[in-house]
Amino acid sequence: MGTIISMTVYPGGGMTGEEARELLAETKGLVRSLEETLLSRKLETAELWKIDQKAGDKEGMPISELLSGILEECFQVSEDSGGAFDVSVGPLVRLWRMDERAAGEEEATLPTAEEIERAAALCGWDKIRLADGKITLAEGACIDLGAVGKGIALDEIVRALEGTGVSGVFSLGGSILTYGEKPDGSPWRVGVVDPRDPAKTLGNLELRGQWCVSTSGDYERFFEVDGVRYHHLLDPATGYPARSGLRSVTILSKSGFLSDALSTACFVLGREKGMELAEKYQAEILLVEEDGTIYISEGLKSIFSAIN
Ligand code: ADP
Ligand code: MG
Repeated sequence: MGTIISMTVYPGGGMTGEEARELLAETKGLVRSLEETLLSRKLETAELWKIDQKAGDKEGMPISELLSGILEECFQVSEDSGGAFDVSVGPLVRLWRMDERAAGEEEATLPTAEEIERAAALCGWDKIRLADGKITLAEGACIDLGAVGKGIALDEIVRALEGTGVSGVFSLGGSILTYGEKPDGSPWRVGVVDPRDPAKTLGNLELRGQWCVSTSGDYERFFEVDGVRYHHLLDPATGYPARSGLRSVTILSKSGFLSDALSTACFVLGREKGMELAEKYQAEILLVEEDGTIYISEGLKSIFSAIN
């Protein structure tokens, strides 16, 4: 997944330390297998890799129930966000080559307006058809699950932990799961990154029980041209990185998928519409605006403490 994974578990329910360690190994295996069977673009075993090969093929390709369920959920968030979140942005993601440019492997240059127009014409839900367990993609179309991969992995981890009695914290890059109660009764502490100094935290969330916390920000992958920051959160309406007046969005939800999808969607939408969307999904939201102002939803007031 191109990120650092860290997992901490506390044995519970009469489990021995050894058994907890085995569960940890199992959880790690789950994430790896999700990458190998579903998400990877480079491994021939992954469904997304196979779908990439079949774009333009009129005959639908059978896909797993897991993937079709995920895509249905993605389409729902697309609809609810007025298209701000859209997994059919693949052609634009490819064009911007953000990973390579942000890493300095490629020259930081901008795509031309024509290139953007051409790539944008290949995006849109109408390019993806899902029927009878089969998927069909229009020529040149491409599904990008980059915005939700880590959240999906967190949901898989939850399924593996259910009923085991363990508790713990699982962190996949910008997406974190807290599960169960800490043995000493204290809350889990999750820091919210300062988008202009990612080595620092803006404040801490004190959480009890199951929460998925996902952050999307303009500081994660970006490059600069003429003093302008071009980041990896694209606005499907313009084909350019979203300019919604935000630096970062953190979403809290019981669902990993939703926390991850909504953090991207709300970043693209901006403060007002983003807060509305989070509310619709009963998710909590923390936004950092361009001038550094922090907005938090009502439910976070008692659990977020800012560091000044
Ligand atoms: P990260 O991967 O850094 O945690 P996000 O979860 O917010 O960040 O996802 C960003 C990724 O989502 C991008 O790298 C790209 O692959 C994809 N993406 C970018 N813009 C959109 C969008 N508007 N809708 C859906 N996916 C997007
Ligand atoms: Mg996301």
